[in-house]
Amino acid sequence: MSTMRTVKVDGEARYDICIGPNLLGDSTLLAHALRGRHALIVSDGNVAPLYADRVEATLRAARPALTIASFVIPPGEQEKTLARFCQALDALAQLCATRDATVIALGGGVVGDLAGFAAACWMRGIDVVQLPTTLLAMVDSSVGGKTAVDLPAGKNLVGAFHPPRAVIADTTTLRTLPGRELRAGLAEVVKYGAIFDAEFLTWLEHHADALLAGDDAALSEAIARSCEYKAEVVSRDPYEHGERALLNFGHTFGHAIEAEQGYAGAGSAALNHGEAVAVGMVLAARLSAALGHAPAADTHRLQALLQRFGLPTVIPAGLEPEALLARMRLDKKAEAAGLRFVLWERAGLAKIVSGVPDDRVLDVLRGR
Ligand code: ADP
Ligand code: ZN
Repeated sequence: MSTMRTVKVDGEARYDICIGPNLLGDSTLLAHALRGRHALIVSDGNVAPLYADRVEATLRAARPALTIASFVIPPGEQEKTLARFCQALDALAQLCATRDATVIALGGGVVGDLAGFAAACWMRGIDVVQLPTTLLAMVDSSVGGKTAVDLPAGKNLVGAFHPPRAVIADTTTLRTLPGRELRAGLAEVVKYGAIFDAEFLTWLEHHADALLAGDDAALSEAIARSCEYKAEVVSRDPYEHGERALLNFGHTFGHAIEAEQGYAGAGSAALNHGEAVAVGMVLAARLSAALGHAPAADTHRLQALLQRFGLPTVIPAGLEPEALLARMRLDKKAEAAGLRFVLWERAGLAKIVSGVPDDRVLDVLRGR
């Protein structure tokens, strides 16, 4: 019996997100997603030794005549650069000087974003198949078509909307994912409950232990439901003109924390993206309550769930409220008259609020 789950993304771009154990070995699935006579596997130095051979063998079983090359970057966000992007294009140029190729992104969000952007630009766009291997990439970055690299001036400043041809999330790969990375992904899972569905928060509360233990069925369910929420939003608003912005719940605060810590070469004491978003969601919930939009009890519930997942919920020591506020004002979403935030009315119902005065934000950053 197959335990695979499929979530369909509709609208302008249509593709399937397949979720389940051992999917990297499923040649029928990969063959279905593959076009052209060439494939470039893009991966990183942690993931490639674990899974690249298997993907290559599956591709060969699917298409014996396929030419396969690989491009492997060192792991880490600091590698999501224009220089690596150029190297990926060089790898494509060596593989084939035509559009007759598919890029296979095997890895976490860094690999997915970089490979997706290379696919978007190579000869004005070829297919990318996303094979996410982190929980964060499975529930967030591999879905929705945002691709990018970073500049010294900030994250994701150069990129394109380029939806994948397919997303194949093999949940078995999560067994080798470091626990801290798994927990970071759970922060984005919690986000979907926080903004779209209080009942999903209840489900997460009931399945927290199973999820932390890496239980396949619980993880598949959490991933499938997260992808359903995201698929629905990006189907209706692929270019983030409206409701897609709700997915940024916790991210205005979270990005400020990440920026203030410094992205490049951040030590293990620095929060990763999911951890920063966990803190950011609690701050957003507290701001909602302080502005009279939401009950304080919901903030406590959110905080308790994140803590259960081993995630931080307070601003790391050493980060100054004024400096964080200044970061948020620099953020591209800032407006002249106050900041814009995704807040909530209650658990499971988010809304966008503009013109939030600086002093109210500072109060929350200061823990008042
Ligand atoms: P994210 O998906 O969280 O945006 P990354 O792409 O940086 O971030 O991946 C996080 C880290 O986990 C990287 O060091 C990456 O090499 C490693 N990694 C990704 N997937 C796996 C896996 N399935 N097993 C082991 N390590 C992995
Ligand atoms: Zn995020």
